[in-house]
This record gives sequence, C-alpha cells and structure tokens, in this order.
Amino acid sequence: MTDYLSIKQVMEQGSGEVAIRGWVYRERGSKKLKFIVLRDSTNIIQCVIARDDIGDEKFGIADKIQIEASMEIQGTIKKEDRAPTGYEILVKDFRLVGESDKFPITKDQSVEFLADKRHLWLRSRKMTAILKIRSTLFGAYHDYFRGQGFYEYQSPIFQGIQCEGGSTLFEVNYFGKPIYLAQTWQLYAEPAIFSLEKIYTLAPSFRAERSKTSRHLTEYWHAEMEVAWSNFRMIQDYGEGLLKHLVKTVLEKNKAELEILGRDITKLQPTIEKPFPRMTYTEALKILKEKCDMEVEWGKDLRTIEEDKISQLYDTPIIITDYPKVVKAFYMKETEGNPDTVQGCDFIAPDGYGEIIGGSQREDNIDKIKENLVAMGEKIENYEFYLDTRRWGSVPHGGFGLGMERVISWICGLDTIKDAIPFPRTMTRYTP
Ligand code: ATP
Ligand code: MG
Repeated sequence: MTDYLSIKQVMEQGSGEVAIRGWVYRERGSKKLKFIVLRDSTNIIQCVIARDDIGDEKFGIADKIQIEASMEIQGTIKKEDRAPTGYEILVKDFRLVGESDKFPITKDQSVEFLADKRHLWLRSRKMTAILKIRSTLFGAYHDYFRGQGFYEYQSPIFQGIQCEGGSTLFEVNYFGKPIYLAQTWQLYAEPAIFSLEKIYTLAPSFRAERSKTSRHLTEYWHAEMEVAWSNFRMIQDYGEGLLKHLVKTVLEKNKAELEILGRDITKLQPTIEKPFPRMTYTEALKILKEKCDMEVEWGKDLRTIEEDKISQLYDTPIIITDYPKVVKAFYMKETEGNPDTVQGCDFIAPDGYGEIIGGSQREDNIDKIKENLVAMGEKIENYEFYLDTRRWGSVPHGGFGLGMERVISWICGLDTIKDAIPFPRTMTRYTP
C-alpha cells in the first residue's frame, strides 16, 4: 500500500520520495516532457513527467491527460523556484484514476456560465479558499457560544406564523394548508430561554427576496442567539465579542486562503483590536448630514446607500441602535424614556458590506406586543403560544441574528454574497 500524503505535507517534507493524489489543475507538454500542476484540497504542485524516465508507452498516456483528470503520482520532490508553489515532483510513476475530457470551464467565462456549472466551479482555487474560510467560521461560531456556556438549540423550519414581515415569506403547501418556511428561529427560540437561558443556533433561514442585490439570498445560514436576563448592552456586547472572535480565528487559520482571495488583511485587523463605535439612529442621521452630506428624514429606515456611506467613516463594524419603532419588528422593546424608538441594533460591516447582525432587547409588555401585532394586521390568536412566554415568568431577554454569508463576504472581500455559499439560491437561481 502506498502512503499518500497531501500536497501541503510533501512540500513540508521538501525532499525525497513522495506519493500524492489529486486533480490536474494545469497541463502542458512537449515531445519529451509533460508538465502537470496537480491540485488537492491543500495546495497545488508542479509535476514533471519525462519520456526518458517512464518510457514511450506510459508517456503516451501522460500526453493525453487533460485538466481535471484525477491521478496518483509517485516521484521525488525538490525545491524549484520557477514552479508555481516553489516545489516540483519528478515523476517516477503515475496512475490515471479518472479521465477528464475537455473540462467545460476554461479561462474568462461569464458569471452566468460559472453559475450554471457551479458543481464544477466549486473545484476552483477561489471557491476552495472561500469554502475553507466558511468552514472555519462555522466552527468558530459554535466555539464562541459554547465557550460562553450557551446551549445549541433547534427550532422548526415549517412555521405557522411570520416574524420578520409578510413580504419575504415563502409559503409552502402543507397538506393543503398554507404555512411558511422559517425567516428566523426567534418565536420558537424565546420559549426555550425559560428552560435553557442561553441558547444559539446555526440553521438555514428563508426569505423571498425579490430585489437583486449583492447581499441577499433566498436561503442563507442564520446564526442566532437568545439570552435570558439580558439588557440591551449585553446583546451588543455578545455581537461584538462574536465578530472579534470570528475575524481573529480566520486570521489565525486562513492566512493562505485570504491571500489567494487577494484580501487585504490589514483591513480586518482593526475589528479585533478596536472597540466598535456605537451610536443611536438619531446620532447616525446627524453624522450622515455633517460628514456625508446626506439628509435622512427622521423615521425613515436607513437604506443601503446610507449604511455604506456611514460605514466608510470607520474601519471596524459599527453598531447603530435605537431605531424608530415604525421601521423595526413588533417584538422589539421600546427605548426607556422614548416610546418612539426601540432597543434594536444593527451591526454594519466596514468596506460597504452592509448589515451583518440585527438584534434587540425583546418587548416584555404583553399589551404592547399585542398592539404591535394588530398594527401589522396579524391575528392575535395565531400568536397565543408566543404570548404565553410573557404570561408565565416573563424575564428581560434579547438576542440577535447574524447572516453567515454576509460575514463570509466581508471577511473574504467578495463581490457578491453568492460566492459565500456553495449553491446560492436567489429569485432567479435555484439550479444546479
Ligand atoms: P436587510 O435589511 O439587509 O435585508 P434584515 O433587516 O432583513 O436585513 P434581519 O431580519 O435583521 O435582516 O436578519 C438578521 C441578519 O440576517 C441580517 O443582519 C443579515 O446579516 C442576515 N440576512 C437577512 N436577510 C438576508 C438575506 N436575504 N440573505 C443573506 N443574509 C440575510
Ligand atoms: Mg431583509
């Protein structure tokens, strides 16, 4: 049995006999030599097959090998400055494992074509780098909340009521009855804080986003937390602590991938080092007017363009709090001493990556919640189970939701959120 090592491992070894396996990333050849750049999940490496070393018959097979064929290679590794990753393997023997004929993806293909061939495009170095960072972030998210004594908890995906507004609900035919796919776990998370107190989840959320933006998917991974006995500041502190931990972990584990993606890591460093500026919505309007020459009427939600402008003034995420009640969800608690605003907070990422966290202290006054639901046109009786949380042993509590793909886009410096998930779903794209 041959002991196969990863390309990363053989490069660390640096000399001697090695065996690797992977896929052909690039190939070119002459009558006497065939150059194959092989890739595996860890890296790429140049391999040279010489006719004189392996004989005419085997060289004939090598000569026909095309991009994305899978191979096993044995040979000697040495340093070679002209090779793409600084090492080269002189091939003693090889085996063609899976042939590949004219791989459809070549250079300079359109975004649409790559989306159609997504299942093959996942093999690209760019997607490989992003998927590794995604994996780091998913792990780091769990570590953060488990480290803080939170329990992982799951809510249903099929839900009978809505939480984040009717316009983005996906209706499902549930044995003839209309129900919805989860937009958030929240209404089913709040009941559980009375047993577990501190809970978090990482699950898909579904939103029928009709506008085409570089920040919206119809299916995204939602990292949500809910905590009993909280105050509004605690919710913001957890969000800031989490983002610092996520960025720090990626910088520790994925420098190589960030380099492949061309991400300037000095832009991520301040997030770890500096406290995030916190400002109220009303203060944000003042800053927008004074520093960005943008006038927003009090009571209007901040639009993408305004979020982008204000975030450009800072090099860490910023936290905007105390939004007008009219623009936020029914479950948010009024600001103390101001019934016109709520204890809701949005975290806006730097570099124009927009909102990455939305959170709030929850309203505990049952009458206020009912009032808000009625104002939204909802039927109170559908929310009875939720209202029960305020009837028996209600406690101050709150939580937030973070869009994993938004954070991945920002950390990786992506042009579109679609590259932050293996198979993106948008209004116009649900295949492959
Ligand atoms: P936006 O205003 O950007 O649509 P939202 O206010 O609808 O966001 P929330 O309901 O607060 O967002 O959801 C919590 C988090 O989930 C957001 O901060 C964001 O990171 C993420 N998120 C929301 N909608 C989407 C989406 N369609 N695709 C990807 N992530 C999303
Ligand atoms: Mg939205």
